[in-house]
Amino acid sequence: MKFRLASIVIRQALTSTLVMLVAIVGVAMAATTTIEQQQRDDLLRTIDADIAGLTDVMVQGGVAELRRRIIDRTQLDSATAPSAAYFLSDNTGRRIAGNIARMPAIDADHSQSSILHADGDPMIVRATRLRGGLTLVVGRSLASSARLIERLQTVIFFVAVPAILASMAAAAVVAARFGDRITVLNNVFTRFDHGERLARVGLNRSRDDLTALAGNVNSHLDRIDELLVAQREISDNIAHELRTPLVHLDTRLIRALELSVDNRMTSELEHARQDIRSIVSLFDSLLDIALAEATSNIDEKAQFFDLSELAANLAELYAASAEEASLDFSTRIAPGIMMRGEPMGITRLIANLLDNAFKYAPYGSRVRMTISEGPRIMVEDNGPGIAKSDRDRIFSRFQRVGESGGGHGLGLALVRIIAARHGLWSVYEDAEPGARFVICIAGEA
Ligand code: ADP
Repeated sequence: MKFRLASIVIRQALTSTLVMLVAIVGVAMAATTTIEQQQRDDLLRTIDADIAGLTDVMVQGGVAELRRRIIDRTQLDSATAPSAAYFLSDNTGRRIAGNIARMPAIDADHSQSSILHADGDPMIVRATRLRGGLTLVVGRSLASSARLIERLQTVIFFVAVPAILASMAAAAVVAARFGDRITVLNNVFTRFDHGERLARVGLNRSRDDLTALAGNVNSHLDRIDELLVAQREISDNIAHELRTPLVHLDTRLIRALELSVDNRMTSELEHARQDIRSIVSLFDSLLDIALAEATSNIDEKAQFFDLSELAANLAELYAASAEEASLDFSTRIAPGIMMRGEPMGITRLIANLLDNAFKYAPYGSRVRMTISEGPRIMVEDNGPGIAKSDRDRIFSRFQRVGESGGGHGLGLALVRIIAARHGLWSVYEDAEPGARFVICIAGEA
């Protein structure tokens, strides 16, 4: 399956991975904040207990004892990364003990606490006012809390990355499975549109939504095919039933022409013959299409033939009329391109494309036929081309667009049917300017 951002399956997979990523980041942030807060609350409780103990020491042994205790504690602690911090100042604000160099900017009268970012690890500290105007600040290092959070984040990272990768892999597998099945559905419609009347979706045994959809697609294509066949049968029957009487009528007109002595009568009879011949040629085209459609493949009449030779012979026939119409007709035919099929059918197909190019490209235009490996047949001109809005319908019966060249709108329908019988697609492309018709292997336009 191709990676297409517009594909809903790919979008769904990316969305679920994104949701998972956001969820993991959210959980990590919530866990970090909760643990951080809990650790701070615990440390503040330890600090409060320490302050209460030191206040007791002060009450019992006075300032000297308090100073001695603080000195004892700070001496035992690490000098570079202390786990506890102290600051004791007298009533003039002069430091008399402790390992904090300066009084932090916190309000001791209201026992305020704060985070202190000193030289070492960050500390959570609380200040309090003791008797005699002394200020005591007690703190605890947040290093172990930070280490815990770091460890937690590492664990979340190592769990999250494989989880996200696993989710992406699972999403890719699901996307590929469903994407492929959706592509199969789309391809069936495209093949049906290109004249493969029997294109249907192969059904698997699973009973999921896509199998149900595939079943619906198949039954609707059956129905469309039935309707198309019914519609064709009516026009084919009319063509079949009316062709012979019209040919008889033409024969009678020929006889009447032989008997006619009046110039006006002769002219009217000739016009009548032209009209009848136009209707007969319409019926012939319809019957040709019916014949081409009667069998969906070419097995019986199939033979290997030299497409290059066939195209070159045809080009010779068209060279004369190109000169008459002052068209710059050229060919680019790769030698020895062999294909299996019906040479007559392929001749009609190329002739129809050339007829159209000659008919619709104005005087002096360029028309080119290219035959290459594949097989690939291309007929292009630099005439008016076909408007975007009309391109979808030009291969259907009776569809004439733009300036009509007097045809019945059946030539391209026959082209598509003959191409489909050979397992080929007929595709219209913009030659900018002009029309380009490409007959090629499915999907290789
Ligand atoms: P028709 O018998 O009317 O030519 P076709 O089925 O051959 O019917 O073509 C269908 C319509 O496609 C035509 O009516 C014409 O408008 C358009 N068309 C076909 N070939 C060309 C072309 N080479 N350049 C411009 N328009 C084209």
